[in-house]
Amino acid sequence: MAKPASNKVMDKIVSLAKRKGFIFQSSEIYGGINSCYDYGPLGIELKKNVKDLWWKSMVYERDDIEGVDASILMHPRVWEASGHVDGFTDPLVDCKNCKSRFREDKIDVSKPCPVCGNRDTFTESRSFNLMFKTFMGPLEDTASVVYLRPETAQGIFTNFQNIREASRQKLPFGIAQIGKAFRNEITPGNFTFRTREFEQMEMQFFVKPGEDDKWFEYWMEKRMAWYERIGLKKEKLRFHEHGPDELAHYAKKAYDIEYQFPFDWQEIEGIHNRTDFDLGRHAEFSRKNMNYFDEQAKEKYIPYVIETSIGCDRTVLTTLIDAYEEEEERTVLRFAPAVAPIKAAVFPLVKKDGMPELARKIIDDLRGDYRVFYDESGAIGRRYRRQDEAGTPFCITIDNDTLEKNTVTIRHRDSMAQETIAAGQVKKYLAERLA
Ligand code: ATP
Repeated sequence: MAKPASNKVMDKIVSLAKRKGFIFQSSEIYGGINSCYDYGPLGIELKKNVKDLWWKSMVYERDDIEGVDASILMHPRVWEASGHVDGFTDPLVDCKNCKSRFREDKIDVSKPCPVCGNRDTFTESRSFNLMFKTFMGPLEDTASVVYLRPETAQGIFTNFQNIREASRQKLPFGIAQIGKAFRNEITPGNFTFRTREFEQMEMQFFVKPGEDDKWFEYWMEKRMAWYERIGLKKEKLRFHEHGPDELAHYAKKAYDIEYQFPFDWQEIEGIHNRTDFDLGRHAEFSRKNMNYFDEQAKEKYIPYVIETSIGCDRTVLTTLIDAYEEEEERTVLRFAPAVAPIKAAVFPLVKKDGMPELARKIIDDLRGDYRVFYDESGAIGRRYRRQDEAGTPFCITIDNDTLEKNTVTIRHRDSMAQETIAAGQVKKYLAERLA
């Protein structure tokens, strides 16, 4: 089976995503808006599963991480303290000939313009701040400027003392958050890989200074293991360490987890040692106490922070790409059962002899525990194909044997193998395989 060229794969995934109801262009009926996307019925299930698996591993399975859901609009001073007003910029160059805009760090300006092919047409590079601005209240003046947050992290730092006091956590402990972030990216693209509105899943882990290196290693290992848990192929994942010129202003050390996308190896998650930069700056700008009193050591200090920051939409796209496979007779999304939007589809072989009623009975029994799907239209082979394209791991068919022996046929998405089990065992069978 020859793999199609990389851009063709992306085109096919974009088209499958639309056809099956994973992801649509935003405002499509008006011609669309660049770099904004909407999730359809299958897309929201996939995204929800990704979020739930992250939350489960970061919050439910531990007792040292608390959750927060901070507001998108924050006091403008937050972004001065964080360094975003001055420093959250990308270097921008324009082509004087075709007026295309590029991030200078993403192209080679000594080469011809990638759009029109002319040489020496680039302007000098200038800094472009990526934060979206809006106005709070009825007056559109500088005093009412607020920003759409470009990262969720600051809502965690500003709540550090609130959450520590309310939860009575002691160091080391973390705070996790899932929420929208906005960046006025110069060159969005590659479908949902880089958009201007996206969701992040971030966790800030507060530690005693001096213990930061140890916790950095710990989180690198933990986070990489999570990607295997959501079913991504191990050989398509790697670490990339930031060199001195790549390090963000707040970071002492940073590693990206990268995935081999059809277009290149690219970041899906950043793990950063942010030191005491953020809490220290908020202490300075707000004049509030950001110290932690260490009862054991009987000393006060500003904790260091190890951050794990992942893009939810980018991860959803990665699961789609990783799962996508073209075979001679079918296109199949081989999602890990845990992320698959629909866990099982139930089909009556024919629309008579009481088969639809028996199928409905099975659906009713599974509903509540799983997202399940009923389909009675078309040949059974076509119904299987439709579920292959949705990534549904199991199809359950009610046939003549169900009437005679009370068994059903289970058809497996990946192997296409079929097996017969007792109708009463379906729930248990799925529970064992979807756990
Ligand atoms: P890049 O260098 O690619 O612009 P970054 O290093 O600025 O990314 P971070 O600030 O570390 O990215 O953001 C953490 C995560 O948030 C990224 O790993 C990515 O998954 C996600 N993310 C960042 N920007 C975007 C975007 N514009 N669209 C979708 N996801 C994004």
